[in-house]
Amino acid sequence: MPSPGPLELAGRVAVVTGGSRGIGRAIALELGRAGARVVVNYHRSAEAAQAVADEVGGLAVQADVGTAEGCAALMQAAEALGSLDVLVNNAGITRDTLLLRMSDEEWDDVLRTNLDAVFRTCRAAATVMLRQRRGSIVNVTSVSGLRGNPGQANYGASKAAVAAMSRSLAKELAKRGIRVNCVAPGFVDTDMVHAMDPRVVEGVVQAIPMRRLGRPEEIARVVRFLASDDASFVTGQEWVVDGGLSA
Ligand code: NAP
Repeated sequence: MPSPGPLELAGRVAVVTGGSRGIGRAIALELGRAGARVVVNYHRSAEAAQAVADEVGGLAVQADVGTAEGCAALMQAAEALGSLDVLVNNAGITRDTLLLRMSDEEWDDVLRTNLDAVFRTCRAAATVMLRQRRGSIVNVTSVSGLRGNPGQANYGASKAAVAAMSRSLAKELAKRGIRVNCVAPGFVDTDMVHAMDPRVVEGVVQAIPMRRLGRPEEIARVVRFLASDDASFVTGQEWVVDGGLSA
């Protein structure tokens, strides 16, 4: 088999959920530069998503991934581009608060966006990928799902569940040419981390052996690797990218 070149995703169609900002934006750009035609999903940030899509010649698509209609809209967009070879479930939210203050709504919102959406898009994408006998799914989890963080019972539970689900799907789909992996970022310099108390962030940085936050591009490069044929024998794994935090 020839070694994949710099345009290792040429001719592939990729869907990136939450591609308008932060890590998802970096992933959409990275996959686009590797030759993929990218569906850049967004929820509220229309202009930002359009800018990403314009930069890589992709398609910006508004959809709330936490709904069945949103999932269907993404699948239709991929179909319009001709196939679905790569699915990156990146969209995610936090509603951090301590257990006794956590409302049912805060629990449900996080589980709906971070877990239910991933189940639904994986199921829909697998239908297409099974026909092609080819595909790569990358789900963005978090070290919070591995280590647990105070105030993140909902978020950590959603990410741990995605990782467990991904391992099952990897085993179900492996012999049909579909790989399923996760990337678990540590603390990355995005709006999600900017929303945290700066004193907490400073404390976290001190606990990271590299003494800095990750950059979205550093997550995106690992996602691109897992999405491509370079990772042809890698499935069912959760790749931690955290500057050594959980080593
Ligand atoms: P972010 O800067 O807050 O961006 C979140 C992205 O998700 C935005 O593009 C947003 O779209 C989209 N989104 C949110 N809810 C959505 C919905 N219902 N439907 C469609 N899109 C939706 O977050 P980030 O830091 O880049 O995080 C990206 C992923 O990495 C998340 O899964 C997060 O849990 C994970 N992660 C992040 C960190 C970190 O330190 N930043 C660490 C570990 C894991 P709009 O802008 O259009 O609303």
